[in-house]
Amino acid sequence: MSALADRTDVDRIRESVDLVALIAEHVPLRPRGREHVGLCPFHDDHTPSFAVVTHKGNAFYKCHACGAAGDAFNFVMDYHKMAFPDALKLLAERTGITLQHRRSTGPKSDRPAGDELRRANTLAAEFYRDFLVNDSRGSDARALIQRRGMDDETVEQFMVGAAPAEWESIAGHLTRRDVSVRALLAAGLIKPRSSGNGHYDTFRNRLIFPICDELGRPIAFGGRRLDETEEPKYLNSPESPVFNKSATLYGLHLAKRSIIDARQVIVTEGYTDVIACHQAGLSNVVATLGTALTTQHVQILKRLCEEVVLLFDGDEAGRRAADRAVALFFAETIDVRICILPDGDDPADLLASDDGLDRFRAAMDVATDALAYKVARFQEELRSARGPAGRHRGLQRLLAELADLGFDRLPGVRKRPVIAQLADLMHVRIEDIEQAIPRGRSGARHPGPAPQEVEENTTAADLFAEQADVPPARRLAERDLLAVLIFQPSLRHQSLGGDPVAAVPVASMLGPQVFLDPLLRCLAETVWEWFSRDESFTVQELMARLDEPRLRSLAGDLYIEAEQRIEAGEQSPAEFLRDRFEALERLADRELYRRDLDAYRRRRETSGEGAIEKLLEQRRKQGYIPDALPTRART
Ligand SMILES: [Zn+2]
Repeated sequence: MSALADRTDVDRIRESVDLVALIAEHVPLRPRGREHVGLCPFHDDHTPSFAVVTHKGNAFYKCHACGAAGDAFNFVMDYHKMAFPDALKLLAERTGITLQHRRSTGPKSDRPAGDELRRANTLAAEFYRDFLVNDSRGSDARALIQRRGMDDETVEQFMVGAAPAEWESIAGHLTRRDVSVRALLAAGLIKPRSSGNGHYDTFRNRLIFPICDELGRPIAFGGRRLDETEEPKYLNSPESPVFNKSATLYGLHLAKRSIIDARQVIVTEGYTDVIACHQAGLSNVVATLGTALTTQHVQILKRLCEEVVLLFDGDEAGRRAADRAVALFFAETIDVRICILPDGDDPADLLASDDGLDRFRAAMDVATDALAYKVARFQEELRSARGPAGRHRGLQRLLAELADLGFDRLPGVRKRPVIAQLADLMHVRIEDIEQAIPRGRSGARHPGPAPQEVEENTTAADLFAEQADVPPARRLAERDLLAVLIFQPSLRHQSLGGDPVAAVPVASMLGPQVFLDPLLRCLAETVWEWFSRDESFTVQELMARLDEPRLRSLAGDLYIEAEQRIEAGEQSPAEFLRDRFEALERLADRELYRRDLDAYRRRRETSGEGAIEKLLEQRRKQGYIPDALPTRART
């Protein structure tokens, strides 16, 4: 980190950022004691394992389940998958701090490959925007915007632009601003001509909707035709290193806050739907980009809310999406409902009508969960089925489908209403339906991704393996001792000996070598970097110095443990430190005694009686033993 930015910039930003506010923009948090807790965004969390600790100038997050931990920089880098320079820039802008020592010549290899593409997309968005607003040839686009009833504020918020009706305009414009043709091609802004040399613009004579990442940076574009005879009606950028269709939701950067507040997200089929909803004051709305809702989308959304409402402007589209939605509903801990708008209206048309918002809300109110929707469709099928045999075959088909999707794995509270409803429809007993469900088929098609794995680091893995050798009592004492020093680094001045004349501060009396536990020793080495200069530190500064995630996690744990223990109020931090030091001393003594005893036994076996005297003499010379051996056996 320090190699890439001036320390003081980083420190100033870390001090001014409001970590709770920063994280709350992405993770719903609620206060609990002096912490804020929520579902961890870094693993598939079902109980709130994630805590943001803010205490006496310290601010860090810590997941008790997966061990994710760190400061604002770690959060931004891990959550947004950003490199450090970008996280620095982002947090600098957020805190209004001007970076003092921007190094324009950072090592090139450290820059993510996507950077040039992002820059190309940002400049392209500006180009399209400028054309729409300022160019006389943008009048067709402006007229369409007016017909669609989009107001200026909305158009600006969504950065809507327009592409000129020309074959070669954007390339020249962007290459003049140092964007390479390679980047333009990779971003899908231009395409190579099939005959001869040269390139042509992907988007021509279209209204342009920039597609942004969660931070609001353009990563791709959607274009709606301005000439109604042109095909296709809607055109999206191809996928690129910065644009993954299956993991991108249009409008998410603008909708995120409302999704968290409403604990619900509405997913529509197109960008114009999203824009119409936002303009009407429904801002928890996003759209997929020409794909059905994927598990990747759900992974993003379930961090923010508990319920997804899939919005369709016609029964047929809803029917097609229902199976997919049921599969998601089975695989994920999120509720999926299906909302069909009345009369086949799309959201824009509906919301533009007089009582549109009311009718929209009414449709939302009667949205059914995906499973119930599927059962309702089945009910319709039954009506057209011929005779009891046809009805029975229909039921078998439905039950087989449900079993394949993982119906068996659902909790009873979700299963029972469906079974009861089917029994009712078929005029049979509930037990008959239960028995008719095919067994042993569920689980094979679980579409959820594997739980996020902690990155393997050989060194850390080795350290964990070594831990087995340290006696548990010893490790506990070491842990407590380091915890209290991390919690209150000023304790380094505390003296521990009983003799006030020979008082030696703990920072000089002890050192990292005291810690037998390898992870604690690593942490202690970093702590003593400050202590050896007689400097204090905050736990976030300590975390920032630790590159290994497990060490950051450990530092967070230790801080929280010490805080809780000291808050419990039985001992002052100084007393606690002394107590733990004495425990460590006793354990060390016992260890020494045990080793001496072993040595004594071996010597007696080889050298006979009298060997113990020789050993004691030797130990005294080495300065180990002030008294006779047996008195050291205190416990
Ligand atoms: Zn976690």
